Parts: sequence; structure tokens; C-alpha cells
Amino acid sequence: MGVELMAVLKADAYGHGAIPLAKVAVENGASHIGVSSLEEALALREAGISAPVLILGGIYPFENFSVVLEADLIPTIASLESAQQLEKIAREKNRQVPFHLKVDTGMGRIGVSAIGAKKILEWLVGKKSVELAGIFSHLSSADSDPTMTQGQLHQFSQVCELAISMGFKKTKFHISNSAALLRYPEARLNLVRPGLALYGVMASPTPSAQELTPVLSWKTKIIFLKKVPAGTPISYGATYRASREIKIATLPVGYADGIPWSTSNKGFVLIKGRRCPIVGRVTMDHIMVDVTDLPVSIGDESVLIGRQGDAEITAQNWADWAGSISYEILCGISKRVPRVVIS
Ligand SMILES: *Cc1c(COP(=O)(O)O)cnc(C)c1O
Repeated sequence: MGVELMAVLKADAYGHGAIPLAKVAVENGASHIGVSSLEEALALREAGISAPVLILGGIYPFENFSVVLEADLIPTIASLESAQQLEKIAREKNRQVPFHLKVDTGMGRIGVSAIGAKKILEWLVGKKSVELAGIFSHLSSADSDPTMTQGQLHQFSQVCELAISMGFKKTKFHISNSAALLRYPEARLNLVRPGLALYGVMASPTPSAQELTPVLSWKTKIIFLKKVPAGTPISYGATYRASREIKIATLPVGYADGIPWSTSNKGFVLIKGRRCPIVGRVTMDHIMVDVTDLPVSIGDESVLIGRQGDAEITAQNWADWAGSISYEILCGISKRVPRVVIS
């Protein structure tokens, strides 16, 4: 049996742009799209994306189930109460509505317990207005803790077996995020649900992840250049002072664009294929970098994420400098940074 793919495109496709990537995902065979909220799902519908969309988060208030129905979206159900509300609204509108049941096997975020899942399955028997289209759970430690992960997988498989034994046949079973997809082939079941790996990024090294190539680069240009003498302070708080005559380039990106403030005096950018250090504090709209000894001009390209010549800076590099994770760096590239899709 084939394994289907749900492309997780929440948070504007991890900062990449959900609408263009939803089209790419569907054209390349994704059977489902996963988003976090009703608003994210509606934005895809408004852009003309008609593929099945699962809203991974909870729907609240419950009246919003009407909107879910109107837009033909698939809600996640994580309590008997929400299942009953969905069934009531679907029955009133004379509809048969698919939903996915979320089981908490150790993430502790949303989801019913295994016992709660059994109660919902029993309640579902004979209900015509709602259809169990999927059962899923989320792994907390697929990249770090095999014992924890095996425990979650085991619990989840018991719920799946119960559903099958009760006659729920057309159901998708899914628990694999990116880390599990690359490490636990046995956990693919009949649908996988990666986010980060779709974008060519892995949070931690895995053998198969070496083949992944990040799809996003982030580039800017030098907008100002100057030579400054020894002792010159740079940026707010004068936390950096030139120790000799240096050449400084100003780049028009700052923390309002997604450069973490915590990378002040720590981060690097690429210019002319070389890593140039950020000097002084990251400001809202600009950073200053040391380009001493490089033959640079105004307008020269600077790569913040991606390759230039043989050099590369990754989202993970920024995460390391900022004490963060690659997910947060990618999601943090703000709206005012134009996305350009190159296919
Ligand atoms: C974000 C998310 C995913 C994707 O996780 P990755 O680590 O990016 O692969 C899958 N399922 C759920 C429920 C999520 O919230």
C-alpha cells in the first residue's frame, strides 16, 4: 500500500510562502495539506487551492465549525465535546463531514488520551454526519529519544488497531513528522506529515538528510560603505569599537526582517563568498558587517541564508548563533521581506 504525503504548510510554509508552495506540493503528489489554523486554511482556499486541507490545531469557538464546513476543510477533533459539536452542526446542515481524531501519546499539547479515543470511536458508531477520515498523533522526540518515540508509536498503534477492529476502514493513520520520516520508516503507516524536511532543512543530522538541499535563500545588498578609524563605535550601545581601521558595510535588514537581535556581534553574512561578521547590535532595519580587505561596492549581493561561491550559511547557523532552532529562524523571516519563487 502506498504512503500518502501531507505537506505541512503552517506558518506561511515555515516562512517560505504557503500559497506558491501549496501549488508545488499538490502538483508533486501531496494528497493533503496541513495548516495550523482556520485562518491559514481559508487563505489557501481564497487562493484557489482545492486540495484536502487538515487544520492541525483545535477549532474554537465551536461555531467556527460552520466556516470549516463551508470551505470544505478538515477539522481536527481532540475531545468528545468538540466531536459532538461538529456532529450537531453537520447534521443541521445535512452534511457528511470528514475529520481527523488527534490522540495525545506523549506530546502533551492537544489530543485525547487512548481511553478518550476509545470513547469517541464508540460514540461515532452509526453516526452519519461525521466521518472518521483520519487518526493522528504527534511525536515529541523523534530526533532525540528512541525510547520515548517507541513508546509513543506503540500507544498510537494500539489506537489504530482498535479503530480498524471497530470497522473504521477508510481512515488515514499518521504520526511521522520530518524527524520520524527520516529515522523510523516503520512509522510511515499510510500517510506522513513532514514540514521542515519538505523545505530541505533538518533540525538534527541524520544520514538520509544529507541529500536534502534547502529550498530557501535570503539575500540582500550593500546599501552603504565606509572606512572608519580605530576606536569608532558601531550601532546602539556602542558595544563594538573598531580596533584598527576597518571597512563597514551597512545592509538593509534588521530584527524587523527576522535577523535575531541576539546575533548582535555574533552572526555572519556572506559577501564575495566570505563570511563577514556582524559588528555592533542588530537594529530594527539594518545590520553593519565588517568587510575590511574585501573588494566590495555598494549594491553588491550579501547572502544571509544560502550559498555564495563555496561558502554557505544555513538557518541552523543562525539558530546556533541565536540560541534558537532553525524552525524559528525560518518562521521569523518577516512579511516585509519579499518572497521570490524560482522554479
Ligand atoms: C508542525 C507539525 C508537523 C511538521 O513537523 P516537522 O518537524 O516540521 O516535520 C507535523 N504535525 C504536526 C501536528 C505539527 O504541528
